[in-house]
Amino acid sequence: MKVGFIGVGHMGGPMCRNIIKNSGHEVVVFDLDAHALEACTALGATAGASVKAVASEVDVIMTSLPMPKDVERVALGPDGIAEGAKEGLVYFDLSTNSPIMVRSIAERLAPKGVTMLDAPVSGGTIGAEKGTIAIMVGGDKAVFDAHLPLFESFGANIIHVGDLGAGSIAKIVNNMIAFCNMAAGAEGMMLGTVAGIDPNVLNQVVRNSSGNSMGFRAVAKKSLEQDWEPSFALDLAYKDMHLALELADELGVPLSLSPSVHNLMRMARGMGFGQQDTVAITRVYQETLNRKINEG
Ligand code: NAD
Repeated sequence: MKVGFIGVGHMGGPMCRNIIKNSGHEVVVFDLDAHALEACTALGATAGASVKAVASEVDVIMTSLPMPKDVERVALGPDGIAEGAKEGLVYFDLSTNSPIMVRSIAERLAPKGVTMLDAPVSGGTIGAEKGTIAIMVGGDKAVFDAHLPLFESFGANIIHVGDLGAGSIAKIVNNMIAFCNMAAGAEGMMLGTVAGIDPNVLNQVVRNSSGNSMGFRAVAKKSLEQDWEPSFALDLAYKDMHLALELADELGVPLSLSPSVHNLMRMARGMGFGQQDTVAITRVYQETLNRKINEG
């Protein structure tokens, strides 16, 4: 089988390299960033000339792209997947995408003989490197079953969630929960520090108490180090939170925490932190109070 991979950034890069290392399939890659491409071709992948060119020569194609509109452009725009696809091409979108957009793209690709499934991932760049990311898949179950070994070459905890779009819904809900935990962690670290507790001690206490979560641990560690280098860019988290609010709007489901966290992210972006890691939401509190968590 020949596999195409479009978008080899923070997540796509390590996922693609694990496919190259673990699956034994031939891999063809495309990215707008030459450095990102080189990291995959150095391991034996071939660089395609365009998305269309990649689509024309593979059996399976995957995308890991920032925004829903990027996925739409790559799938259906000029020189995209639709233009190059052979009848029978299977397409997995690994991006965090809107379920509405996923269904719309799949509908427009179907006349070309392309079967699309949404397969967003969770576990961050570390999980992507280690091949331990969770993959939540929506769409045709028989296609999912047939490609399970391919998924296993770069992930663990691979779950078929339901119909097309169901993977994206599960992913959006997961991230909504994670970012609410992260925001609570940022507020807690700031409050405890201002109230006079050593932030290192506070981190130790909460890690071993009921306030613990992955989001808390990330915020505490990074704010103690004042390290805002992006592993998961705040701009992308803001997009995910927007997708959650959009879904809730569509369905009339009340959300009370998520709009506040979305607004906190908006403030952080307004302060110029959009390209930093999501944990930089902590900086809104630091800037407001003009003190850093690690300085007590
Ligand atoms: P990224 O910006 O690091 O990578 C995206 C890559 O896509 C870049 O290399 C970029 O050059 C490439 N790209 C953009 N437009 C392109 C186009 N038209 N043609 C070809 N290449 C193009 O982003 P990321 O952090 O890897 O995130 C990718 C997706 O995975 C997003 O949807 C994100 O929400 C999701 N995600 C990210 C993480 C994380 O921890 N970073 C975790 C889970 C899910």
